[in-house]
Amino acid sequence: MKCIFCGSDTKVTDKRESPDGTRRRRECLKCKKRFTTYERSEQGDIIVVKKDGRREAFSRDKIKSGIIKACEKRPVPIDKIEEVVDDIEDKLRKKGKEEKTEVIGKMIMTRLKKLDDVAYIRFASVYMNFKDIKDFKEAMKDVD
Ligand SMILES: [Zn+2]
Repeated sequence: MKCIFCGSDTKVTDKRESPDGTRRRRECLKCKKRFTTYERSEQGDIIVVKKDGRREAFSRDKIKSGIIKACEKRPVPIDKIEEVVDDIEDKLRKKGKEEKTEVIGKMIMTRLKKLDDVAYIRFASVYMNFKDIKDFKEAMKDVD
């Protein structure tokens, strides 16, 4: 998000859930001014299309708990996990209404790969249901 005063890039200094949505304190990297944004989370806004064609509402919690499970006993801080979930949710909202579970899985994997190798492999085998390493390599070919 750009600074509301000068249009430069900002960073998030604090984030918490409030009744008005996700509250973020932001600080401008250039003019150093601070401001607060609220983002309403509209559950059900994004539809997840499963492999068998069934559709369900996107759930942050589901994704988050999947990642937490993959990161069990790994040195991945919870705020990093939150960051990944935020990032995925943002991207999905920008992209449009529906997304396949597969694509979401790959988006998560791309990010997990940068955080922790073990968590990445764990997540891949659970979420993508790979039978062997060949499937795995195949699926990762077109990951951005
Ligand atoms: Zn500024």
